[in-house]
Amino acid sequence: IEQTAYQNDNLAMLGKLSASIAHEIRNPLTAIRGFIQLLRPHLQGLGKEEYAKIILAEIDRANDIIHEFLSSSKPSSPQTRIASISALLKEVILLTESEVLMKGCQIDLQSLPGDLYVSVDVKQMKQVLINMIRNALEAISDRLDGTTGKIELGARREGSEVRILISDNGKGMDACTMNRLFSQFFTTKENGTGLGLSVSDRIVKNHGGRISVTSRVNEGTSFVISLPLINGLTS
Ligand code: ADP
Ligand code: MG
Repeated sequence: IEQTAYQNDNLAMLGKLSASIAHEIRNPLTAIRGFIQLLRPHLQGLGKEEYAKIILAEIDRANDIIHEFLSSSKPSSPQTRIASISALLKEVILLTESEVLMKGCQIDLQSLPGDLYVSVDVKQMKQVLINMIRNALEAISDRLDGTTGKIELGARREGSEVRILISDNGKGMDACTMNRLFSQFFTTKENGTGLGLSVSDRIVKNHGGRISVTSRVNEGTSFVISLPLINGLTS
């Protein structure tokens, strides 16, 4: 037991340390970003605007990594409140609408047979769902046969649990990818961070739930998030 406590202590310290380092790196990045933008017209004059674009894109990527890393090293006790599943799904659809439209995709919310309620940290749970929708959009872009991208969201009750479904008709994945999906830093994307699903998995586990996945290459992928329902709170 002492061993475990000691390790947890170290982990908490490491979490704090990395969070403060991440914050410190963000500030200079913001400054660099600002100055590059000021230099942009001059670079354009030199016929080197491409360089500015690359620098900006790479700074944004570094910021994304820091952002995802920060959310993955935050203390894990969720700020829970009672939330309606349909409100949660609708909100997430709204938040991702512009990205979905930009990719010419469609996102459908299956009709829910009455609402279900869970006790969750709404911010964290939204982050999980947005991660999954972004992954779905990326999987759809990588499918090269011109199929119209479709993402389906749904939820149903299964005993004392709610199962939230996020399915896409993207490129799917092979067994090798499936096996490593939730590992930190595992990515098959050129600009991926490999943090989205490992963070999501941690969040869902902290809520007493789990994530399962089924996929077929060139057909699509379905994620199911199972969460404990609040007793008696169904309509
Ligand atoms: P990232 O998106 O930065 O690569 P994630 O942790 O979000 O990191 O995902 C890890 C990997 O899982 C992805 O690189 C991809 O190979 C695979 N993956 C996740 N979601 C899907 C999906 N909907 N369809 C196909 N592959 C997926
Ligand atoms: Mg991702």
